[in-house]
Amino acid sequence: MIRIPKGCKDMLPSEAYLWHTVEDTARETAELYGFKEMRTPTFEHTELFARGVGDTSDIVTKEMYTFLDKGERSVTLRPEGTAGVARAFIEDGLQGGPMPFKAYYLISAFRYERPQAGRLREFHQFGAELYGSPEPSADAEVIAMADRFLKALGLSRIVLRLNSIGCKACRARYAEALRNFFRPHVDEMCEDCKVRFQKNPMRMLDCKEQSCKKFTAAAPVMLDYLCDDCRAHFEEVKHLLDGAGISYTVDPHIVRGLDYYSRTVFEFTSDALGAQSTVLGGGRYDTLLEQLGAKPSPAVGFAAGLERLIMVMNAEDVAVSERVADCYIAGMDEASRKKAFLLAEELRSAGLIVETDLVGRSLKAQLKYADKLNTRRVIIIGEDELASGEAEVKDMFLSKSERVKFDALAQYCKGGKF
Ligand code: ATP
Ligand code: MG
Repeated sequence: MIRIPKGCKDMLPSEAYLWHTVEDTARETAELYGFKEMRTPTFEHTELFARGVGDTSDIVTKEMYTFLDKGERSVTLRPEGTAGVARAFIEDGLQGGPMPFKAYYLISAFRYERPQAGRLREFHQFGAELYGSPEPSADAEVIAMADRFLKALGLSRIVLRLNSIGCKACRARYAEALRNFFRPHVDEMCEDCKVRFQKNPMRMLDCKEQSCKKFTAAAPVMLDYLCDDCRAHFEEVKHLLDGAGISYTVDPHIVRGLDYYSRTVFEFTSDALGAQSTVLGGGRYDTLLEQLGAKPSPAVGFAAGLERLIMVMNAEDVAVSERVADCYIAGMDEASRKKAFLLAEELRSAGLIVETDLVGRSLKAQLKYADKLNTRRVIIIGEDELASGEAEVKDMFLSKSERVKFDALAQYCKGGKF
């Protein structure tokens, strides 16, 4: 038997309604804020991610699905959505259009990671990007949209963690402070942290190794190193969120994994998820577009992992109702079955979800199948019904039935009598 590749997952028909709920909620929420959907290729030139995501990030150093195509070009399955949107924004001349530019995406993304619960090699994201505004209101709008999305899904045990990692100047001072703090311990930390100590000590705060976490807990916090402008920006973001009634915790340990962030960074986390607790992460990345060759343009955005969201919905027992068949039409003999087929088509034209027998089951077996479908209404047709032009309509929950003329069935079923 050929098996699914490691770290991938099938979505089965029985799970489709959950996925659709998440995707529909994402679209509806994004559109409330004026974001329009954008689709970019599943793979891009490798260089886009190396430059866009940042070549010291875990994604670029360890996790990319990179290969040579038949023309010997190095291409990479997208590990995230931001770089592709930025490339398209520049390439398609959208910089000349109305600002701010607002786009959202629903995509699959690929990272070569060690698979575990909530960590896959192919996973799915809902993301949003807002370009062209350095204002705190842009950060607050994007965070409000993420918050509204999660609440619209019925999730209540999610916490918003907020931080500011300042501008380049703030981070240079902070990196120095971190190096001074970690210097006596760095020999006892993991190999990755030894490299991070040299290249980007802020990353050490994001380390998931227990042996490193015990050192990071007491590390100096970024907020004490913010310049006046960055501090004022962060205060205003918090002020706007307070006004909108969006609760958050300031968490100085949120630094985000990607190289391009500045100022606001945030994560929405769930206590229902164990180790992989972040369902949605984002922030401001004012240098990304410039880094990709565009004229400088401030930007802020987020991405949510759909698999993790679905895990939290299950853990929180969020009720999502699946639309079941409005009726099942059972035929007792061959002629009745043919009529059932035609009636089913008629009722579907009226917008009803209808199932009928396709495998030649006995009436008893058909009723059993209808019960499995959770269908409350069963329409039964036999010789007598064909002769009289009236079907027997059974309410399976109340075990009651009524006779209804064939040409009145659509009206009757749409009437929502039960
Ligand atoms: P983590 O710290 O868990 O590795 P990350 O910082 O790498 O997350 P981002 O790049 O910010 O994650 O991606 C945004 C969201 O996408 C995450 O919050 C998570 O919900 C989801 N995500 C990231 N990587 C994976 C993965 N390998 N499998 C499933 N979901 C993922
Ligand atoms: Mg990661």
